[in-house]
Amino acid sequence: MSPVRPSNRAAAVFVVRCLRKAGFEALLAGGCVRDMLLKRRAKDYDVATSARPEQILPLFRRTLEIGAKFGVVMVLVKQCQVEVATFRTESGYADGRHPDQVRFSCAAEDASRRDFTVNGMFYDPIRRKVIDFVDGQRDLGRKILRTIGDPDRRFEEDYLRMLRAVRFTAHLGFALEPAAWAAITRHADKIARISGERIAAELEAILTHPARAVGARLLVESSLCAAVFPGLDPAGANRGVTVLSAFRRRISFPLALAALFAEAPAESALSQCEFLKLSRDNIRHLAWLLEHRGRLLDARMGLAPLKRLLVSPYFRDLFDLQRAILRSQSLPQTPLNILQRRIGALKGVDLAPKPLLNGHDILALGAAPGPMVGRIAEDLYVAQLSDQIHTPHQARRFVQNWLDRNNSRKSS
Ligand code: ATP
Ligand code: MG
Repeated sequence: MSPVRPSNRAAAVFVVRCLRKAGFEALLAGGCVRDMLLKRRAKDYDVATSARPEQILPLFRRTLEIGAKFGVVMVLVKQCQVEVATFRTESGYADGRHPDQVRFSCAAEDASRRDFTVNGMFYDPIRRKVIDFVDGQRDLGRKILRTIGDPDRRFEEDYLRMLRAVRFTAHLGFALEPAAWAAITRHADKIARISGERIAAELEAILTHPARAVGARLLVESSLCAAVFPGLDPAGANRGVTVLSAFRRRISFPLALAALFAEAPAESALSQCEFLKLSRDNIRHLAWLLEHRGRLLDARMGLAPLKRLLVSPYFRDLFDLQRAILRSQSLPQTPLNILQRRIGALKGVDLAPKPLLNGHDILALGAAPGPMVGRIAEDLYVAQLSDQIHTPHQARRFVQNWLDRNNSRKSS
């Protein structure tokens, strides 16, 4: 079975037509309308409708009732998953995270529960008309990110919107409306009430994007960064932002975090990130980068350590991190350029060859059972990686010399 993909425009328009045919109001909604007006490619196309979940479900062959209680149904059209949501209002956000109540309503009310004016528009794909109850088009034209309604109240309903504000401001290249900015600076410390996973998803979107310099700066200046990472002091955070700003393209999330914590001890950085509930892979990736920071400054490091770094799947990120750190300090890239030449010369070389001898072989040559075998195996492998020995015969000679040198050959 082919994987399910986010909705594309054709799939969403098909869903709109089906709902219309059944007598309901149905429109494209939210981010896809904004992106269409900005002539950007939308991530996905969502549908909003007057039909209730129990009226939507029988109209389509394949559906998923993921959030039917809140008025959200997934419709599968070919391989695409289209989110279809009943027009609704939300109220009573007592916890600053989730609405206590959802009430089905009309398009105008549905627009006003959305976060920002540019995200609050609808589009009728059949009449080719934008339906805008919130002056979203005006703000798009002026390149302003503005909350729908009073910013203090809207952020208090759902503190995650503060991070969303930073994300959209940076990604769209807009200005954040001053009242929204002031409200964020007032409420920043409450971001910690949102779950680590949801914060992580927003941080990932902000920090991995090419516009990360703007986003990261907003995070620090608003104190959102300090609220999420209380152990990262302001000077360290500012240094982190300059490192983050030195990358050119999209980067991985662990690399972005390693850059933000470029000045912090590895242990402290990892403990600050615990709150984000990162995946095991991401933690391993981040820990490796933090642990190996600075290693590439030694352009003349031995061949064995170089090969060991090179076999890591995170090597490219380590290289890019070091390049960004040097760039952020206006230091020359000389060590990295030298390393790059050395790495180029290793093309086609097996970086992690099979060891020439195993533990049994080493014991058979007279090593004492126990930790000594591991030490010899390690020294032998370093010699092998360093191109000092190439054959089992040379390896046996190496072990014999090692044992002689250490004067601990087992008496037979
Ligand atoms: P993206 O292109 O990143 O997907 P988007 O605008 O589509 O951006 P989504 O998170 O996919 O954002 O949400 C879809 C729409 O739902 C938004 O455009 C907005 O109208 C509304 N929305 C999403 N999250 C919130 C929220 N926390 N508060 C209010 N409205 C929200
Ligand atoms: Mg979206």
